[in-house]
Amino acid sequence: MKHYSINKQSVTVDFREATIRGQAPDMGLYFPERIPKIENEFFRDIENLSNEEIAFRVIKPYVGDAIPEEKLFQIISETINFPIPLVQVNETIFSLELFHGPTLAFKDVGSRFMSRCLGYFLKDHEKKVTVLVATSGDTGGAVANGFYETEGVEVIILYPSGKVSPVQEKQLTTLGENIHALEVKGTFDDCQQMVKKAFADEDINKKRFLTSANSINVARWLPQQVYYFFAYKQWPEKGKPPVVSVPSGNFGNICAGLLAQQSGLPVKHFIAACNANDVISNYLKTEILKPKQTIPTLSNAMDVGNPSNFVRILEIFQHRFSVLKNDLSSFSISDEETLLTIKEVYQHCNYLCDPHGAVGYLSLERYLDQFPGKGIFLETAHPVKFPEAVEKAIGQKIEIPASLAGIMKKNKKSSLMENSFEQLKGYLLH
Ligand SMILES: *Cc1c(COP(=O)(O)O)cnc(C)c1O
Repeated sequence: MKHYSINKQSVTVDFREATIRGQAPDMGLYFPERIPKIENEFFRDIENLSNEEIAFRVIKPYVGDAIPEEKLFQIISETINFPIPLVQVNETIFSLELFHGPTLAFKDVGSRFMSRCLGYFLKDHEKKVTVLVATSGDTGGAVANGFYETEGVEVIILYPSGKVSPVQEKQLTTLGENIHALEVKGTFDDCQQMVKKAFADEDINKKRFLTSANSINVARWLPQQVYYFFAYKQWPEKGKPPVVSVPSGNFGNICAGLLAQQSGLPVKHFIAACNANDVISNYLKTEILKPKQTIPTLSNAMDVGNPSNFVRILEIFQHRFSVLKNDLSSFSISDEETLLTIKEVYQHCNYLCDPHGAVGYLSLERYLDQFPGKGIFLETAHPVKFPEAVEKAIGQKIEIPASLAGIMKKNKKSSLMENSFEQLKGYLLH
């Protein structure tokens, strides 16, 4: 299958080229030439299929013949070798727990898949590739872990000093080898600005082959569809498809869900659960898309003022606003409401949400108040990654799981850097 640039000013490319480039030369995002349809028998039989079989069936058409079948199956098996359970929280609400991967957040699946694809594509590449990313927390850890020891790939992660949680910082600074962490004296926006400038800089591009590992990359974006199929596999009432609420920031995850639905996956309705960064909630009310300055919140992985993947959602719906509104709603949840939700769900249902999951839960509850039924929210991160907010909400300490105890004892290795593009440039040219 070919992938085209949404800006329509670049040639179509295969999955290999789209993965290596990240973004098209015309700066557009890549989008699949057609959305494959999955036959009804597949859904009737889904409970009898393994997660690997499901994921392979879903992803294979998008990859086409860029990766041989056997190799692709191996990549997929390694990508999803941890549980993704659907847990009932109360009578009408279920949680799809996406935090059982190595860095305890859902970005593990996309990062692990992308790193393995890139590793395969670059095995004969003479030049090393540099993956350059800015992170507000979760992306860095997932990318570091996913790309650790991937041959031919060097990873450089910029993160704002003092602004990521202790667990997040350890996850991106303790691996070493091909993973380099740059701790910037500035904000996440500063880090992102520096990365953007690096991608546009002639000297740097002469010296290095740069690529990005955020959700604009097709190899990170497309595999996220599998969550929604795994949710349906475990859904108890197959005749009554669920409403699905997705904590959203850059809108990569929910866009993958909408794509899955277009392939035939039964979903009644999607909810983009947002924090105070309400650009899309407003768009769905007014049909006017007005990017804003990012507002910092407790669910910081969703602090995005101009979601890059939303253009892909418009592409799925061919810019037909009324059709889009039929399938997608959005709510904007405040920090106060987030804390209260963590507390109430813990007290009444004995279920502990992280701040992102709480935004998803409350958005779903609001929707179901208007349109009664049952639904799923995606629990995108483990609560222990956000101990301050969660402990404040429930008034007690939370335990660090055994899987994290080891990493918390390791030494941080990072290079402290001024908020200065020149300094980053010096580093990249050395
Ligand atoms: C990245 C992230 C999100 C937002 O996902 P998008 O695909 O950017 O919309 C939500 N929750 C957590 C925990 C994240 O790390």
